[in-house]
Amino acid sequence: MFMNQKSIWIKTPLAVFADNSEGGVVVKDKKIIELVAKGQMPTANIDQIYDASDSVLLPGLINTHHHFYQTLTRAYPDALNQDLFPWLKSLYKVWAHIRPEMHAVATELALAELLLSGCTTASDHHYLFPSQLENAIDIQVEQASKIGMRVVLTRGSMSLGEKDGGLPPQSVVQTDDQIMQDSERLIKTYHQYDDGAMVQIALAPCSPFSVTTELMKATAELAKQSNVRLHTHLAETIDEENFCLQKFGMRTVDYLESVGWLSSRTWLAHGIHFNKEEVKKLGQANVGICHCPTSNMMLSSGICHNLELEKAGCDIGIGVDGSASNDGSNMIAEVRQAMYLQRLRYGASKVTHQHAYTWATKGSAKLLGRSDIGEIAVGKQADLALFKLDEMRFSGSHDALAALLLCGAQKADRVMIAGQWRVVDGKIMDLDEAELIHRHKKSAYELRQLARA
Ligand SMILES: [Zn+2]
Repeated sequence: MFMNQKSIWIKTPLAVFADNSEGGVVVKDKKIIELVAKGQMPTANIDQIYDASDSVLLPGLINTHHHFYQTLTRAYPDALNQDLFPWLKSLYKVWAHIRPEMHAVATELALAELLLSGCTTASDHHYLFPSQLENAIDIQVEQASKIGMRVVLTRGSMSLGEKDGGLPPQSVVQTDDQIMQDSERLIKTYHQYDDGAMVQIALAPCSPFSVTTELMKATAELAKQSNVRLHTHLAETIDEENFCLQKFGMRTVDYLESVGWLSSRTWLAHGIHFNKEEVKKLGQANVGICHCPTSNMMLSSGICHNLELEKAGCDIGIGVDGSASNDGSNMIAEVRQAMYLQRLRYGASKVTHQHAYTWATKGSAKLLGRSDIGEIAVGKQADLALFKLDEMRFSGSHDALAALLLCGAQKADRVMIAGQWRVVDGKIMDLDEAELIHRHKKSAYELRQLARA
């Protein structure tokens, strides 16, 4: 890949979410090499200057939970206005028909949407491997490298089908052996362990109600041996808690502990329905929690206890969740949702815009086990998002950093990943948006036809 050896000074932003960097930041190769204090000049040699005086500068946003394939079933008629379990049941039978080319375009579109909203690292939770889609993760690796985004792709799994008392139909479940073999293959083939990794693999059984106890245990073992992260959905709804009690005779966190998952290697999507002892247990184990506010409102699942979990020792990150329960992949808009939903629980003075930005950057990075991203600081990867306040929605605003969230920013003007501009003037480099939408819509239509046949 072409590498920019030149140093670039992103000069005097309107506002910046970092300390002592009102004068901007200097980037060289893939990293941030200097923060420039107010009124100062860089000490490094500067080859290029980018005048950021009309932009708010944020660390690249990090999305820690998604299901890219779901962009094909947004606002799907059979799934409208339902709670989680019936919603899932109506959609599983549609998703069972996804073909490789549909998955490729769904991934491409989800990544493009995220990138345009200031996201530089995206995690996807893919757990659907019907016989025609066994290479789902390989397809995603290819799409991510094409668009130049950093990804943490989680090899999901479902092994408990309807006939064994699980929720998904048999056609989308695999055997424990198939799942473990493919998980090993993917880690060996794609996982990068080094600083600045562009592709990482994590292991992610869909949820306690869709895999066997043996698979949960074997997955935790393999993750430990291979030093990769663990991810799953947990405590999203009360239905799930009841399922755990009925099937395993335990509440969700006790079950997690019993299968060897209560560790700092684990991050959970949602994490809503925990009692006080469970919050304490999760905190002591330093488990990460991905807050997905829009999805939780859409499916009426509840509100995550972000502040108690944080106080107990959990890291908190943000996720847009899959596009059948959001149904958009707009990361900056999700940061706003997180701030507002959490205010409903804790009050306005307890949840500031700085809080929300921290969850979506440094907090999300911790969930992915990364210390090289999520912050504007010397030595970190040069993953940056710049937003202009030139739309009507911002006119009359006085605090630029707060305005991004309060006025409802939707789109980044520029995005840099590993020192390379990937978005310029609100457009993704080398990508024809209209052509992508055309291909994606066609795939979504074909999927619906297949599901109805
Ligand atoms: Zn999800």
